[in-house]
Amino acid sequence: MYTTSNQSYGQFAHVSTAKNNYFSHGSDSTELYKSNPQKIISQQNNNEKYFSKLDYGTSLNHFDLKNNQKYTQKSEFNRQLESYNENISTIDTESLGLPNIGNSCYMNSILQCLFNTKKLFEYFINGTNLIESPNSYLTEEFGKLLTTTFSKSITYDNLLDAIYRFKESIGELSLTFTGYSQNDAHEFLQFLLDKINKELNQAKNIIEKYSEFKPSSSIILLDKIAEEWKLFSMKRENSIITNTFQGHLINEIVCSCKNKSYTFENPLDLSLDLPIYKSSHSYGGKILLSLSECLNEFIKEVSIPEYICSKCKQKGKSKKKAMIWKQPQILIIHFKRFISDKYGRLEVLKNPISFPLSGLDLQTYTHRDSKEQRGKYKLYGIINHYGNLESGHYTSIIYNEEKDKWIQYNDSIKDQIEKRDIQEFSQNSSEPYLLFYKRV
Ligand SMILES: [Zn+2]
Repeated sequence: MYTTSNQSYGQFAHVSTAKNNYFSHGSDSTELYKSNPQKIISQQNNNEKYFSKLDYGTSLNHFDLKNNQKYTQKSEFNRQLESYNENISTIDTESLGLPNIGNSCYMNSILQCLFNTKKLFEYFINGTNLIESPNSYLTEEFGKLLTTTFSKSITYDNLLDAIYRFKESIGELSLTFTGYSQNDAHEFLQFLLDKINKELNQAKNIIEKYSEFKPSSSIILLDKIAEEWKLFSMKRENSIITNTFQGHLINEIVCSCKNKSYTFENPLDLSLDLPIYKSSHSYGGKILLSLSECLNEFIKEVSIPEYICSKCKQKGKSKKKAMIWKQPQILIIHFKRFISDKYGRLEVLKNPISFPLSGLDLQTYTHRDSKEQRGKYKLYGIINHYGNLESGHYTSIIYNEEKDKWIQYNDSIKDQIEKRDIQEFSQNSSEPYLLFYKRV
């Protein structure tokens, strides 16, 4: 006999509020390249020169940009704009590099991946979907910056203005992202998706909480319960963000008395622990891992010591196993490289992780009873983290489908990457931090 648990989780409850003092991104990139002679970065000799000139202050504003920094970023902007083919359209399919306005590489790398997510691009590019309401301030600035980034008829100052306006709207909603200090790209992604989702939410019953989910008591079939959860969820959240990124997870909890219960979660990304084999490898080890190993770790059965079984009322006799129920259209993978040890000290795991560029199959990690649409996934975005806890830098790599090429965005600088280099990079690199896959 199955029973269902009343426990369930809202997907936004887990948005991290952790202090980011540990994360240090965006500065001292020269040092960074010395310590990370990866092919993808090292093939760009210009970068080292470029970064050695820069001295990112902590309180830059539009008018404080150092002359040489502004000049370098502006000439890079002009070079990119001139490279676009002349045709009638005022919009290119390739985004411009985004100037760094002071430790903003965490933001720039996330924006490139989101702007190059086709569904978001199409939604925002003509602006007609932007709801004119006092509640969609951030979303409007996001849409305007997206459009500007693909426009062929803008000036460097237009682009800077759009970035500053967007950054300002972020700062008004979050203390963490106010100012020009270094931040964690994943935390920024969660914050941004959460806010845009809230601003564009079309759902009617948003007051009711996810914890109030109670499936019909007569239902014992899992796919019926999951269907109820789906409808329940859609009444609370329904936006371009949830439709694009949201997946459903099911937690199966089994007690030693054979009692089963289920909970659901609707995350916008999949955060994966790195399987660290503690007996033989210390934290920070360099052992090569694979995405499938991380996914296997994710679905591994774990004990839940605090859980009290609803049938036998015993504590700590249950085990939990998480599985995917509904695969998202766009799958964002987050590797939990920043972890704290048993003493609470933060460490960064620099294990290289291999991942497929195409043909990623989630079948093994999806619940067998689920009849939701399934498919294979193709990679189109990577966010890399270079450096360590004290000093780091983010870049992104995008696959441009129309032009069939891979482009690395290092703030304002962009460079084409050879396919064989991407192939090699995907097999043995310790920098990939977030991966963006689309279901094909
Ligand atoms: Zn029990």
